[in-house]
Amino acid sequence: VLIAKPGKDRGLHVSSVRNTIMPAWVIDKYGTNDVLRFNENTLFPVIHYPNEVIIQVHAASVNPIDVHMRNGYGAASLNMTRDPLKMKIPGSEFPIILGRDVSGVVMECGLSVKYFKPGDKVWAAVPPWKQGTFAEFVVASANEVSLMPKSLSHTEAASLPYVALTAWAGLVNSCGLKKETCPGKRVLIIGASGGVGTAAIQLLKAWGAHVTVVCSGGAQTLMNDLGADDVIDYTTASLKDQLKTRDLFDVMFDNVGGTSEELALQYLKPWSGASYCTLVTPFLYNTDRMGIADGMMRSGFTLGSKVIKHLCKGIHYRWGFFTNSGPALDEIGEIVDAGKMRPVVEKVFPFSDVPQAFDKLEAGNARGKTVIQVI
Ligand code: NDP
Repeated sequence: VLIAKPGKDRGLHVSSVRNTIMPAWVIDKYGTNDVLRFNENTLFPVIHYPNEVIIQVHAASVNPIDVHMRNGYGAASLNMTRDPLKMKIPGSEFPIILGRDVSGVVMECGLSVKYFKPGDKVWAAVPPWKQGTFAEFVVASANEVSLMPKSLSHTEAASLPYVALTAWAGLVNSCGLKKETCPGKRVLIIGASGGVGTAAIQLLKAWGAHVTVVCSGGAQTLMNDLGADDVIDYTTASLKDQLKTRDLFDVMFDNVGGTSEELALQYLKPWSGASYCTLVTPFLYNTDRMGIADGMMRSGFTLGSKVIKHLCKGIHYRWGFFTNSGPALDEIGEIVDAGKMRPVVEKVFPFSDVPQAFDKLEAGNARGKTVIQVI
């Protein structure tokens, strides 16, 4: 364990960092909402690597991955990342602290951290194999962290990192979109009214794309406010019929999965570099069900055969995954501070009501993000 540099010069309450326990929401087993437990005596996080920082969490937010992880989804892959040599006994991942997003203040820095200092306001998305942010303090690698946009409150900032980075990974890394390539591109977002979708619309509009969104009727006004050029209500008529009346697209970004994948071959411009990217993949499901080796082989086979099937028709087929990246978050922060992207906070829950926030997310019909105010 490395000795961290205290934040003396910033006049912070460094003594609190010396505590050995903190309040956090933990799970001790997988299951429904009943497994969420508020524990005032959770072990205080420790800096293990020189590039890590301890952040005092001001706000966090709830994502579908939190609900899935609470249910045990992805446990095989996440446990392999936590303990690659399988040195620990089964169940040693518990207690798990859920929560991926954080906005807060740096309390301590590892010895090699140069970019941050105690007292900096930061935001980050912590990857799922690490202890999460439904706690008073969290440890993150400095390369996952970014200075918080100056124009946002903590509550607003906590709503963005995980979904904005997922949208970034799908649009930029998987579909090759960026500021320079977006103007003139026609993009279709399926499932646009939730966390990832509302972030994706705004990134694309900031870069000058033409954005068509698919959502249910109640989200129409929100979609227009965020800058969508064309809104399709999937509840009024068949999506296929509604798409027939539109021009073909350059990119499809799918946050819903299932049968919506079939739209790629019909409504993307073939042989023009058009891409389809879905966030809903069987990757973790396969490893949970079949084990790491067989599950990865099955996923590789499924992905490979879909890539080839689509390539034969002139379409690039991709799976998109959340990718944590401080530098990408820096760029997203600049877009936010330039007034081109805003947080879409649907509801804020106090730290005492984390289970109610899970209930809200599980009930569906998200319109942006559900945030947890920690302090
Ligand atoms: P949310 O729960 O915030 O939003 C989902 C949205 O989809 C809701 O607004 C919902 O509203 C809408 N929706 C549901 N069914 C349809 C449909 N048939 N057509 C259009 N819209 C629909 O989820 P996120 O935005 O955070 O995530 C989206 C998906 O991406 C989730 O499945 C999540 O698990 C996945 N994901 C995957 C990641 C990865 O690394 N691969 C990372 C992050 C997310 P309504 O029902 O009212 O239409």
